[in-house]
Amino acid sequence: MLEERARRERLLAQGAGLAAACRKCEIGAQRRNNVYGEGDPCASLMVIGEGPGETEDLLGRPFVGRAGQLLDKMLAAIGFAREEVYICNTVKCRPTLPGPRGPKNRAPELAEMANCRSFLDEQIDIIRPSVIMALGAPAAKSFLGRDFQITKMRGRWYEGPAGIPLMVTFHPAYVLRQTGGELTAVKRMVWEDLKAVRTKIDEVLEPPAQAPEQASLF
Ligand code: URA
Repeated sequence: MLEERARRERLLAQGAGLAAACRKCEIGAQRRNNVYGEGDPCASLMVIGEGPGETEDLLGRPFVGRAGQLLDKMLAAIGFAREEVYICNTVKCRPTLPGPRGPKNRAPELAEMANCRSFLDEQIDIIRPSVIMALGAPAAKSFLGRDFQITKMRGRWYEGPAGIPLMVTFHPAYVLRQTGGELTAVKRMVWEDLKAVRTKIDEVLEPPAQAPEQASLF
């Protein structure tokens, strides 16, 4: 297993190098750091967000801002330390819009996600997680098509890349924007999705024992 871990680390490092050199999109020239992904190369759970924000762009690491702190809590609630999962995004460069006080975050465009897709597919192929959890509508759309509607279609199992079970839940940044009753309702839905992810991973890692054969006389 140590050798396998080292092999995957090597492949991921190669992928990170190629992603850092990529300039297919304009945002490749605008970003400060390429945010390839991080975590356990042998993770059973892969978390995929939409794209790096300002803090991630600055530090070159995914989900390290406020949304990332909430993601850490969400993972802890189902028994995962951040280091035990693999975390990345549909695009590796920060998508921005010009703003009066500097660049503002925006959702990645479909063309940007398409340009970055080979990096993501390669990460999935190297890690082969038991479950993928996509955070928010843009990440979900990149797997399930542009008609995906998060409020109606989250919380179910889909067949993800390479047949890997895929769950979509609300993005932690969306959760942070809610207040009052909305916040309670959204948190409850995210909790249901997280519990389903935990159950699925437990089933894949330790499938329930086969029901004993029907007893017969001989
Ligand atoms: N939001 C995302 O979708 N990804 C990050 O890495 C950070 C915030």
